[in-house]
Amino acid sequence: MFNIYELTQADPKTLQERALKLAEEAGELAQAVLSATGAPGSAYKNHTLEDVREEAADAAIVALSVLAQASADADEFEREVKRLMAEKCAKWQEKLAQ
Ligand SMILES: [Mg+2]
Repeated sequence: MFNIYELTQADPKTLQERALKLAEEAGELAQAVLSATGAPGSAYKNHTLEDVREEAADAAIVALSVLAQASADADEFEREVKRLMAEKCAKWQEKLAQ
């Protein structure tokens, strides 16, 4: 998945620091969504859907980096990303079909 595993290896963050980084990016995404959708008290920040897309990408990258750091090697990372995405999306689809 791009070079997420290699970038994660080259970045000295601990797993805890990376998980906190994900929480930070989730906060930035929340801020962008609140502003872009004109939520009371947040609209003045003038975010757009482009900002929402950027923050969603940041959060997705950091989440994948957590997955990479929790994997023993690049092969396991690739295998697990494919397996987990397929399983989780299938579960989501099942729920929608209920
Ligand atoms: Mg960000």
